[in-house]
Amino acid sequence: MIPLAIPTLGGNEARYLQECIESTYVSSVGVFVDRFESSVAELSGSKAAVAASSGTCGLHVAQVALGIGPGDLVIVPNYTFVATANAVSHCGAKPWLVDVDPTTWSLCPNLLRQALELETTRTDAGLIHHHTGERVAAIMPVYTLGCPADMDLIIDIAREYEIAVVADAAAALGATYKGREIGELGADLTVFSFNGNKTVTAGGGGAVAGNDTVLLEKVKHLSTTARVGSDYDHDAVGFNFRMTNLQAAVGLAQLEQLDGFVAAKRRIRERYDKAFGSISGLGPFPSPAWARSACWFSGVVVDIERYGPLAVLRERLRSADVDSRPFWKPMHLQKPYADCMSVLNGTSAFLAERILTLPCSTNLADEQQTKVIEAVSGVLPTPSARTKTEP
Ligand SMILES: *Cc1c(COP(=O)(O)O)cnc(C)c1O
Repeated sequence: MIPLAIPTLGGNEARYLQECIESTYVSSVGVFVDRFESSVAELSGSKAAVAASSGTCGLHVAQVALGIGPGDLVIVPNYTFVATANAVSHCGAKPWLVDVDPTTWSLCPNLLRQALELETTRTDAGLIHHHTGERVAAIMPVYTLGCPADMDLIIDIAREYEIAVVADAAAALGATYKGREIGELGADLTVFSFNGNKTVTAGGGGAVAGNDTVLLEKVKHLSTTARVGSDYDHDAVGFNFRMTNLQAAVGLAQLEQLDGFVAAKRRIRERYDKAFGSISGLGPFPSPAWARSACWFSGVVVDIERYGPLAVLRERLRSADVDSRPFWKPMHLQKPYADCMSVLNGTSAFLAERILTLPCSTNLADEQQTKVIEAVSGVLPTPSARTKTEP
């Protein structure tokens, strides 16, 4: 079976882990945590970065550091991984779901502006949502599949309405936007994930990056139990969101290979796009002109009216030893978020039924990708074959 996405661990991972064990620094303090943080800052074009135990925890503590809490609304794209919305909920705030653009799959700037224009008023107490009286505290754009959202427009809107921006850049390390690095797009804080399925993994982990060093000190303080000095004195309700030296050792070794990994991901994307570009009813993943995506996942958008539901295609691909997966289920269809306020345009629901992700590990061999391409072409029912099986 050709797997969907597995890590490539051929660099300094084992050596750095061995160093942790020999030094006995296996827990939340150690040279690898410091080196990991510097490396994330440098590779993202940010002044500083703070390691976290996961991307979700990073998103959570970023919002707490920005003063977001109960009574606040945070605008979240309706099409994302559930962790984005969960991080808002963990702060005691509520997600306000705004749909994505059909061509880029990221937060739609027009819908965002429309929502703020029609439903909020600026007051001395902040931006207030008319019907609920709640404060709109922040926008959390998601860099879907490692491709930055249209940040110039989103930042303009955020500045106009004077609200914060926390970017969920979970899988976007290595991407650029209009030639700028991922940490230079104007978000107050930018959060990365180093979970096992991301391009660069620490086993599990996250990082919060930014250019306001005072704010990042606050993130660090809050995520490390808010301790003052060296004894048992704490000045806030802090978290234990620390990354261990073991995770950072793996993460650092992975970061050393970032360029090669992203290049591999982009090659895989290009090859699928080229191979499937000539098959009608199969569409490419987005590549908006403003960005060079980090191409976290690749695959195709299937015309299900023509080829039938994804589940059937997936079953056939599995028989051909090729793994494939659907992509995110929209937030408004998730049990905890079904009752959230939302501004929807139908895009996320449409996409969720049609996106099929295909094998795209950084070490996917050319022959394996050829096999995947042949399998996909082979399992598509021809229109005539389909007619025959219909009652
Ligand atoms: C992976 C991911 C997260 C969560 O990161 P974890 O490290 O698994 O907590 C959040 N948002 C998006 C868009 C992701 O892809």
